[in-house]
Amino acid sequence: LNFHTAQFMTSAPTLAACPPDDGREVAFAGRSNAGKSSAINALVQQKALARTSKTPGRTQLINFFGLANDTRERLVDLPGYGFAKVPESVKREWQRHLSEYLQKRRSLQGLVLMMDVRHPLTDFDEMLLGWADDQDMPVHILLTKADKLKPGAAKNTLLKVRRQLADWEDLVSIQLFSALKRQGVDELAARLDTWLLD
Ligand code: GDP
Repeated sequence: LNFHTAQFMTSAPTLAACPPDDGREVAFAGRSNAGKSSAINALVQQKALARTSKTPGRTQLINFFGLANDTRERLVDLPGYGFAKVPESVKREWQRHLSEYLQKRRSLQGLVLMMDVRHPLTDFDEMLLGWADDQDMPVHILLTKADKLKPGAAKNTLLKVRRQLADWEDLVSIQLFSALKRQGVDELAARLDTWLLD
């Protein structure tokens, strides 16, 4: 698929406000600052399709991007998570919307989960992997900012995380990624193709 054609469609605060649940979509999730916006922008080769903006109001929204002029294939930017300033009640509300989206969205084919290669498998990541497992939803993990480690150390982290998730190897795939160096973009695109193409 040609991901460069991605265009902003709409933002939705709740499942009910999402675009029609037909066609196929893949969703991007990650703890805030994990490098999610940078990964999406690297994939679509656009500087600012996914905002790196930390505006609190925006963080609660699910953002939809359509490929080409077709809205039947979509990339979905899920709200970031883990702002220290966000009150507990807002976090719970956010969790509810996210788990509802993962449970009920029939067009959702898979989840891309961004983790900083230096801090993989946070509590948030574990929670999301648990939800995905409940739904038999495939997950592709990007170990982001791989350029921050020496190649050998990055590779070791990759192997270690693979071992830790070995019980889920049917559902989970893992790769190194660097938006800065454009490392792993083709591998990500190939994975998305398997989810979005018939
Ligand atoms: P988000 O909150 O998950 O959307 O994360 P952002 O994409 O906004 O990135 C968070 C921070 O990490 C920013 O300062 C980025 O410049 C930095 N960052 C993102 N990707 C990379 C990368 O591949 N390499 C390096 N060195 N820094 C990155």
